[in-house]
Amino acid sequence: MTDFKRDGSHLSSYPPVEKWDDWVEYDAEAWPRRVKKHYQLVPTICFNCESACGLLAYVDKDTGQVTKFEGNPKHPSSRGRLCAKGPATITQIHDPDRILYPMKRSGPRGGGKWTRTSWDEVLETFGARIRKAFQENRGEEVMYHVGRPGHDFIMERTLQAWGIDGHNSHTNVCSSSARLGYLLWHYADRPSPDHANARFILLLSAHLESGHYFNPHAQRIIEGKMAGAKLAVMDPRLSNTASMADHWMPSYPGTEAAVLLAMSMVILGENRFDATFVKNWTNWEELEVGGFSAKGQSFEALIEALKRHYAKFTPEFAEKESGVKAEVIVKTAREIASAGSRFASHLWRGSASGNLGGWQSARALMLLHVLTGSVGTPGGHNLNSWNKFVPRPFKNPPPQKRWNELLYPLEWPLCIHEMSPLLPHFLKEGRGRIEAYFTRVFNPVWTYPDGFSWIEMLRDEEKVGLHAALTPTWSETAWFADYVLPMGFSSERHDLMSQESYAGKWIGFRQPVLRVLQEREGKKIDYTYQANPGEVWEEDEFWINLSWAIDPDGSMGIRQWFESPYRPGEKLKVDEYYGWIFENSVPGLPEAAAKEGLKPLEYMRKYGAYEITTDVYRLNEEPVAPADLSGSKVEASGVVTKESKAVGVMVDGQAVVGYKTPSRKLELFSKTMVDWKWPEFALPEYYRSHIHRSAQAASMGKTAEDFDPRYMPLVEWPKDAKGDVYTLLPIFRLPHLIHTRSGNSKFLYEIAHKNPLWLNPVDSQKIGEVRTGDLVKVHTEIGFFVLHAWITEGLAPGVVACSHHMGRWRLNKDDQLERMSSAWVDLQEVGKGQWKMRQTSGVEPYETSDPDTKRVWWSDAGVHQNLTFPVHPDPITGMHCWHQMVRVERAGADDRYGDIFVDTNLSFAVYQRWKALTRPAPGPGGLRRPLWIPRVHRPQEAAFYMKKG
Ligand code: SF4
Repeated sequence: MTDFKRDGSHLSSYPPVEKWDDWVEYDAEAWPRRVKKHYQLVPTICFNCESACGLLAYVDKDTGQVTKFEGNPKHPSSRGRLCAKGPATITQIHDPDRILYPMKRSGPRGGGKWTRTSWDEVLETFGARIRKAFQENRGEEVMYHVGRPGHDFIMERTLQAWGIDGHNSHTNVCSSSARLGYLLWHYADRPSPDHANARFILLLSAHLESGHYFNPHAQRIIEGKMAGAKLAVMDPRLSNTASMADHWMPSYPGTEAAVLLAMSMVILGENRFDATFVKNWTNWEELEVGGFSAKGQSFEALIEALKRHYAKFTPEFAEKESGVKAEVIVKTAREIASAGSRFASHLWRGSASGNLGGWQSARALMLLHVLTGSVGTPGGHNLNSWNKFVPRPFKNPPPQKRWNELLYPLEWPLCIHEMSPLLPHFLKEGRGRIEAYFTRVFNPVWTYPDGFSWIEMLRDEEKVGLHAALTPTWSETAWFADYVLPMGFSSERHDLMSQESYAGKWIGFRQPVLRVLQEREGKKIDYTYQANPGEVWEEDEFWINLSWAIDPDGSMGIRQWFESPYRPGEKLKVDEYYGWIFENSVPGLPEAAAKEGLKPLEYMRKYGAYEITTDVYRLNEEPVAPADLSGSKVEASGVVTKESKAVGVMVDGQAVVGYKTPSRKLELFSKTMVDWKWPEFALPEYYRSHIHRSAQAASMGKTAEDFDPRYMPLVEWPKDAKGDVYTLLPIFRLPHLIHTRSGNSKFLYEIAHKNPLWLNPVDSQKIGEVRTGDLVKVHTEIGFFVLHAWITEGLAPGVVACSHHMGRWRLNKDDQLERMSSAWVDLQEVGKGQWKMRQTSGVEPYETSDPDTKRVWWSDAGVHQNLTFPVHPDPITGMHCWHQMVRVERAGADDRYGDIFVDTNLSFAVYQRWKALTRPAPGPGGLRRPLWIPRVHRPQEAAFYMKKG
């Protein structure tokens, strides 16, 4: 097993830290001559996904330029290793098409005309508009909308300093669904599996090759396998991950919870569960189901009640629903039981984010962990909150008093994150407007479903007064901005990052490499854009300066939060912000730095990361702190309270901290679901997804007894719709692409640049002897797209698939989007809300300062399928349910590759049908949402209550 060693010796070859100031390599371009080159190596953090792996930037001492990125051996999570996207950072920072200066539109919005402007002008313009909005009590009209955050806490702090409920995120097109499934069990909304020490690993995704924390996880999954762990993968597609598995379970999409509950039934039925753990650590005594109440009953009676409740989940039933063979389900369940507390799993997007009710996959998966006692154990499932570390800065503003219903509307009281995919529809319904809108590394026109509704919203200056796109690359959304503000990549900005990527707690420091080096040489740098290419800035300094521009004299009470903790009344410097955190908020760091004669900030600039602890198991068993215990009382439920707040729970006669749920235990039974009008989901359950066969049959007017309109919206096809109905899986990732940001990486786009439709041979025959490379037309509820077919047995008949990350497009032939990754398109609004896009040309070689752009050999940019998807907000989690019911036919004579048509009037109608499935607030006591459920950028408690009258 490859444990991380602080000295880097877990790697066979690496540059030792004592040589980082003068690292010598031979110049590859001088070969066969042996010419030495001298580099300074500066650590930073990759910005190309959320894993936050450690990079080492190699800066050529002669030119002062970054020439390559390798892994940082001192980083405890990535341990010197990277995926393809880490080293590809070099192509992003040297992309000749990148945005180097702040730009302001000079014609109508969306017209594609830009002029260079200054950062001062940007700050003055936005400062004045926002100040006026605040003075007129229109704070909710200021909105920050984030795609890839890449930082922890600083933005929440900024918005709370502004006193507004203005934080919007992409999470409801990403991971909200799984989050609710986990949260209902143990408050923490993410898993942190200890793959390296597991005996059995179950992945509900292609996690080994892509997905959440996949480089840190992949290396530990392989370590687990090398130590003897078995790997099972449940995924409708034969992904590269599935091909590495001991068991591949190709479940029909949306039926995963049925398989998982059947596995639980095997373990319960064979009495192979950890009774002590279940008895001590679940809230089983609160359970009420099917006329059974556990109150006053024995634990054995509870187990029998559970067996009765889940009786229908036989392996045969699960096979009928999912297509996974009953014997595979039984075998896998037995192996999980044998692994016991060393059973690890992962689910983040995949089945959870594809399906209506997908959150139940996470909840059912957790039931397996609870039954095996593999929660908080070596080799088991840990809580993200035990492994992730978010330090607090020097002074924190109070929570905002307001509640913004554009973000958390009443219809979705249990949504874990903001209902951001619905923003265009909310504005269309007249629920509000936006005065100042910041999209930040965020490209909803392209990454979200229903992109034409976003275009309609963004081009409307009544709905969106002023829009700044803060972005390191051009994007389809930036096209519709008033200002395009260039922000840095991995080596051009400061950020703090920590992720729950293994059984340990760590913190990483992203830093602007050229600034760090220039300061080491004694050069005075006031702002990072002075050292970065062009005037590329970083957000930390942008927000500090914008806050001063909003409140220049401090009279609004905003400026105080952006004043130095060391120089009262003066503007906060970024070194002071992080220096204070490292000195005061990271346990053990000051001592580790002192041992080397360094200040904590110097230590982090030198190493780029710090491991805080690996003592992270079973933190629920920690005793309640003496200060909390003093004056506390034990409630009848066993919960220990102090001043009406829960501080722990009694287990085996001991007061321990437990979990942050209402019962302080793992909630097998969720009273929250009962209180919030979903009593049928008080326990982990399986219910059918919107793309289930019964929903397909109902959409075609056939009688489908198991179609349940309480949960499933009816798809309405046009009367003349052609083609058979299929389920489209549109969300699998290619390992080397990064949504929008890989668009300017020549290395990454050379590897992959097409997204054909995966089609089983059975279906290709049905559709009309379609062969690989033939054009097919895929109809969604609101339009169609045309692309090539790829015939494969890597997924079951009835299911088709198309990867995302592809189909970038630009409206100008020669600029405003990376030409190596985008097609030049003609976009027309042919009727009100009716949009037609046709590719004028694909990718072609082009002349720039980089000779490689003349060598571009591929012409395909893929097809933008997301434009043709309506929003599908899950009625409980609010998550956009990505899978689509589609009709597929051979393309016609008039159809061309990349053609897209969409009617946004239909997309608005689909939105209304899904909204009708919700069960809105108020909940108990007039609440908008449960108080115990976390909310990003949480307002004061009073704001959780709806106003009377
Ligand atoms: S997994 Fe790859 S893209 Fe993500 S942070 Fe690590 S190196 Fe970067």
